[in-house]
Formats: sequence, structure tokens, C-alpha cells
Amino acid sequence: MSAGFCFWHRGHALDVELIAVIERGSGPAAGASACLPCARKITGVPYGEAAEVAVEVLEARAGRAEGGSSGAGRPGGRG
Ligand SMILES: [Zn+2]
Repeated sequence: MSAGFCFWHRGHALDVELIAVIERGSGPAAGASACLPCARKITGVPYGEAAEVAVEVLEARAGRAEGGSSGAGRPGGRG
């Protein structure tokens, strides 16, 4: 899971995947990441193919997050 900024809805998301690297005139290239709902909406050129891959990755991670519950202690337990 990699929380970050979703380039498409221009907001924070719990999990994002890199869709494209956008080169800027000056300075470093900026990565354009999308969250799962946004990645599903991205079709066609130029990002459709990358978005499809990202959806698979994000769905896999989301599925694992739902089912997984290791014995890690939760903060704020009863004292
Ligand atoms: Zn989004």
C-alpha cells in the first residue's frame, strides 16, 4: 500500500499507483499517480494501457488488505 496524491481527482488517496511520468520543462519529471476509482476511469490513449495495469495492482493490494489481519497490536487499547 502506498498512500499518495492522486493526479486525476487532485486529492489524497489511501493507495495510488504510478500511471505516467510527466516531463516538465525545468526540474525533475513529475509522477502522475492514480487511485483505484480514478484508474478504472482512465481509458484510451495515452494512459489507458498503464491504467489497466495499475487497476490490477491496486485491486490485488486492496484484496489483500481486506482479508489480512495479522496479530499486530492496535493502538489505544484499554489500559
Ligand atoms: Zn483519484
